[in-house]
Amino acid sequence: MIPLPLSKVAELTGGTLHCERPDVLVDGPVVIDSRAVEPGALFAAFRGERVDGHDYAAAALQAGAAGVLAERPVGGPAVVVDDVQKALGELARGVLGRLPDTTVTGITGSAGKTSTKDLIAQVVRRAGPTIAPVGSFNNEIGLPLTALRADEQTRHLVLEMGARGIGHIAYLARIGRPRIGVVLNVGHAHIGEFGSQEMVARAKGELVEALSVHGTAVLNADDPLVRTMAARTAAKIVTFGRAPDATVRATEEFLDDQGRARFSLVTPEGVLPVSLRLHGAHAVMNALAAAAVGREAGLELNEIAEALSEAEPASRWRMEVTVRQSDGVTVVNDAYNANPESMRAALDTVVHMARGRRAFAVLGEMAELGASSVAEHAKIGQHVARSGFAGLIAVGKAAAAMAEGAGQVGSWNGECVQVDDVGAALTALRERLAPQDVVLVKGSRVVGLERVAAGLLEGE
Ligand code: ATP
Ligand code: MG
Repeated sequence: MIPLPLSKVAELTGGTLHCERPDVLVDGPVVIDSRAVEPGALFAAFRGERVDGHDYAAAALQAGAAGVLAERPVGGPAVVVDDVQKALGELARGVLGRLPDTTVTGITGSAGKTSTKDLIAQVVRRAGPTIAPVGSFNNEIGLPLTALRADEQTRHLVLEMGARGIGHIAYLARIGRPRIGVVLNVGHAHIGEFGSQEMVARAKGELVEALSVHGTAVLNADDPLVRTMAARTAAKIVTFGRAPDATVRATEEFLDDQGRARFSLVTPEGVLPVSLRLHGAHAVMNALAAAAVGREAGLELNEIAEALSEAEPASRWRMEVTVRQSDGVTVVNDAYNANPESMRAALDTVVHMARGRRAFAVLGEMAELGASSVAEHAKIGQHVARSGFAGLIAVGKAAAAMAEGAGQVGSWNGECVQVDDVGAALTALRERLAPQDVVLVKGSRVVGLERVAAGLLEGE
């Protein structure tokens, strides 16, 4: 964070200063875990369900924290506020307001936010020092904590914005002050909480509504619910996708035999080939979004194409491909999360990678689908069967509908196995796998299917 006296923290958060020396300088990071305190840090005391950060305030000060952001006096330098979470947001907003040379990019969408955030960061890094969250830090705590890592040197700040309801993105955008807003897609993720895709679109669109006339909205030209968001913003519009009228688009797309995507990147400045190290056709859309942001960052087309071709998958359990040395079995670990769109994308990629070899899908529940849950699971089961997988291993209760869906496809001669948990899934796989087979492992976070992938790769 930029160094600020504790009195300024009080001013920005509207809190009360409890400190004999108001000029005590916060020149370390803002942290919520007292074990992460460094000298000069600001320790934000959150009241969690089990632990109360206030109990650790003394330890934080002992470890060198310059002060504590708290909801009650803590017996040392502190700024006392009504609500630490809100105050953290206000502080981040205030700090970003003092960083006019930092371009903030906000990213939202139903699937691919983290993957795209990682790509954007790897592109705009070429334009100057860049800060982006670790993993999926995309909520009302993770976003301000990420933003507060920015300082005068930061040229680009990349923020992931997740929404679980109307008003959430508006809240995050107020804190993050994005100049560039990327909307990836409107799918079925969290539809259970939103009620309908239209409501999801309303929520995601809050990002472009928050942009000013000086901003840029980067919109998916192929997704009708995203495309129409152009009408909801004062900002300049840049589109990406496969649509012929998209500002930044892909042509001559194909997946190589490892499932890595290649395409020609077509922009108003010219056309260049891109070979991604990332797997799956959906990575092309994320790369196009990153290219659009790279253009806004003032990068040349060749720099953008090079950065995309060199970009590594930065976050774990998203289409991680490992080939077992011992028998050539390919394990595709996409166990980070799942919704119908990303399930289909992953299944299609794996079929392509298999190229005639046997493919198995180990699939768990897609959570938070609400009333459409059974139907969506059944459709995925049908997709597995129609794609010619050798086997479907459905893990857990909610995945049973997938097994039923697969069973409805009369022409399918693959095998369907239903198991209760990760251990049983591993056993079922071990009984069936032969050299050179390809296995996709995917389900919602709660299912924890990465343990299946880890089990398969044990000793490798
Ligand atoms: P979360 O809401 O959990 O933070 P996210 O939007 O950040 O999710 P990622 O973590 O990047 O999304 O990816 C989640 C899953 O979606 C992964 O399985 C990934 O392979 C897949 N995915 C990535 N990009 C896309 C895309 N553009 N379209 C569909 N699926 C995608
Ligand atoms: Mg994420």
